[in-house]
Amino acid sequence: MDLHKLIHERIRDVPDYPKPGVLFKDITPLLADHVAFAGVVDAIVNHHGRGTIDKIVGIEARGFILAAPVAYHFGAGFVPVRKKGKLPSRTYEETYDLEYGTETIEVHADAFGPGERVLIVDDVLATGGTARAAAELVSRAGAQVVGVSVLLELSFLRGRERLGDVDVHALVTV
Ligand code: AMP
Repeated sequence: MDLHKLIHERIRDVPDYPKPGVLFKDITPLLADHVAFAGVVDAIVNHHGRGTIDKIVGIEARGFILAAPVAYHFGAGFVPVRKKGKLPSRTYEETYDLEYGTETIEVHADAFGPGERVLIVDDVLATGGTARAAAELVSRAGAQVVGVSVLLELSFLRGRERLGDVDVHALVTV
């Protein structure tokens, strides 16, 4: 079956979650389908050449689920970007605006070697604020962002534009 069609079929729309007016894209049906899950991981790996990336960054929490197998298949290391207060050692932190309020994410300060090439992976690109903050953290930690890969891009929120000249790769776009 066509991977794009399968991805669309396995992402469940949940209206008004976590708050009224938000159409939540639930990837748990996709993760539960081993063909869809493996297809997504392989497609992300195949988009970038093996050996071209040193570290895969996964964004808490759903980004972890996709980024870890991508790192394994790539032969790259995995680095978590987490919500504030979850990482035990010294961190850099970045605060960004959400629709209501702000969010702060962190990365370990020693997570990357100088100039390492980094791919950021998450499930959904919405306004782009999270991915942009993650990219900023990678830069502050001395590494180089070579791209952002997401399963699903909500193009009407124009997140891609907030990422400037970073290469953004989405498996499906709505
Ligand atoms: P943003 O920073 O606006 O690009 O939002 C991206 C982050 O929020 C990602 O980590 C997503 O997991 C989550 N997210 C934002 N909007 C949605 C949505 N409609 N459905 C599922 N997850 C979302």
